[in-house]
Amino acid sequence: MNSMSNMVREKKILVLYTGGTMGMKPDANGSLAPSKGYLTERIMELPEIGRDDMPHFKVKEYDELIDSSCMGPQHWICIANDIESNYNAYDGFVVIMGTDTMAYASSALSFMLENLSKPVVFTGSQIPFAQVYTDARRNLLVAMIVAATSDFPEVCLCFNDKILRANRTVKMNSIGLDAFDSPNYHPLATLGTSIRQRKDLVLCHPKGEFTVSHNLDAKVIVIKLVPGFDDESISALVKHSTSLKAMVLEMYGTGNGPSKKLPLLDAIRLARSKGIIVVALSQCARGGVSLETYSMGRDFSNAGVISGGDMTTEACTTKLAYLCGKFTDMESIIYYMSVNIRGELTEKGMSHLRTSSYQESVVPTPTVRSTESSGVFANLSSQNDA
Ligand code: ASP
Repeated sequence: MNSMSNMVREKKILVLYTGGTMGMKPDANGSLAPSKGYLTERIMELPEIGRDDMPHFKVKEYDELIDSSCMGPQHWICIANDIESNYNAYDGFVVIMGTDTMAYASSALSFMLENLSKPVVFTGSQIPFAQVYTDARRNLLVAMIVAATSDFPEVCLCFNDKILRANRTVKMNSIGLDAFDSPNYHPLATLGTSIRQRKDLVLCHPKGEFTVSHNLDAKVIVIKLVPGFDDESISALVKHSTSLKAMVLEMYGTGNGPSKKLPLLDAIRLARSKGIIVVALSQCARGGVSLETYSMGRDFSNAGVISGGDMTTEACTTKLAYLCGKFTDMESIIYYMSVNIRGELTEKGMSHLRTSSYQESVVPTPTVRSTESSGVFANLSSQNDA
């Protein structure tokens, strides 16, 4: 056994299995459904699992395996709790779940896990493990290697030979194997003949102690503007809501909307007066919102809409849930929505190299490393290739 194998073999990872296509098989009606114990057994049978260059691992299968479309904040809290209670015993964590809401769950975890200093890698597959041409085996094995050997102190998503920052990902393809993309941030690592990691893009190790924020307040709604939409519906929603905490408006281009439609602006002003936070995102996958670019955008800004910059809808909504669960005052929530706290946002006029004050006090700094290296991954890969 060579030294690199030794190093990987000494690592221990915990695999949390929540459900999703990876472990599904046809039920009595021929539709795919998760089946208890099935995926764990298949994983244990994998010839690669016992190799010297694979880490030690334990699979924790949840009692109820579910399709990720049924997952929500309570399940995210459960995953966060399991990571918290096993944090010191493992070098890294893999979360297996369905792809449909993986970008939401992994974004939520990226906010909830404060001062994270170990990799947490989400993965799943488009094709069940049982199929001959499945993408499950490769996604899972790579996720396990990344969780064991990378020095990424952040929540990532491993899919189709890419390691992406979780809170930058979007599910872009419902049928292809390249299900996820990170439209506004470069992948943290890519796989070719070797695994190349971009250490210069990864978050810095935190100075503070690891903690978990268990409170999520997900009373957040997303409204996508379309030409000719019925602004009375938005007014009615705002008027009658007694619990809404935040409203995300998916606007055109750099954050434009029909500011000549006064009822819409009135509804936004009413929302703000009721303590509802209104955040603008762009409908464009790349780029983001800059409310000052056009007068239309400025009108919305003047009405109290705040910019979500280049955040994904997934990151924006889960960040709101995290902040609304953490702070009771609106000023703090509004302030941190415009600050980069986990690498989810390119702050206006700042590169991702800057540090925010919030990071220093509550969470790992989002500053990135100064060196680029293919490090452990490249070494590991070349050993395997040899
Ligand atoms: N419907 C499945 C889920 O999200 C799809 C998948 O696993 O890819 O759980």
